[in-house]
Amino acid sequence: MPEVPPVPLSRLTTLRTGGTPARMIDAHTTGELVDALRETWADGDDWFVLGGGSNLFIDDEPFEGTVVRILTSGIDRIPSPRPGFARLRVQAGHDWDEVVASAVAQGLGGIEALSGIPGRPGPPRCRTSARTVRRSSRPSWRSS
Ligand SMILES: Cc1cc2nc3c(=O)[nH]c(=O)nc-3n(C[C@H](O)[C@H](O)[C@H](O)COP(=O)(O)OP(=O)(O)OC[C@H]3O[C@@H](n4cnc5c(N)ncnc54)[C@H](O)[C@@H]3O)c2cc1C
Repeated sequence: MPEVPPVPLSRLTTLRTGGTPARMIDAHTTGELVDALRETWADGDDWFVLGGGSNLFIDDEPFEGTVVRILTSGIDRIPSPRPGFARLRVQAGHDWDEVVASAVAQGLGGIEALSGIPGRPGPPRCRTSARTVRRSSRPSWRSS
């Protein structure tokens, strides 16, 4: 499992707050992520998942637990069940703005208005963004 030397979370959050965790794991693939979380849950340690760090305000005290950083990336265009619609499968750790740029580059309309939002598609933000997208032009997409 890709355990890395822990660094202060203030280096990884946009508000520049956060102490150093006891343990840090960088998950670059879905398999690594699943293994990391299974092992962490089995240990019963405190844990949390870190994406782009733009929606977190973390205590500067050391964190006695494991931080799992999601660094997965990839955007796949997959068949849509609805004619005239596109569906994208996006890895949870992919940079959100790159997702928007990729959609625009492919000539897909609908999520261009969501450019400039910080973070990754994986956090719950994905749902509000998806709702906004559906309201605006009804493309079909999916985050994994
Ligand atoms: C200036 C600004 C503008 C914004 N505008 C919008 C907007 O227009 N629309 C909108 O929807 N949002 C908006 N947001 C919210 C922004 O999208 C969130 O900051 C973003 O979702 C956080 O992504 P992150 O990768 O930085 O997550 P983090 O800050 O790393 O994590 C946030 C939370 O999600 C959890 N998390 C992280 N990754 C995952 C994962 N893969 N699965 C499950 N949980 C996970 C973390 O444990 C944490 O609790 C805005 C934020 C800012 C600062």
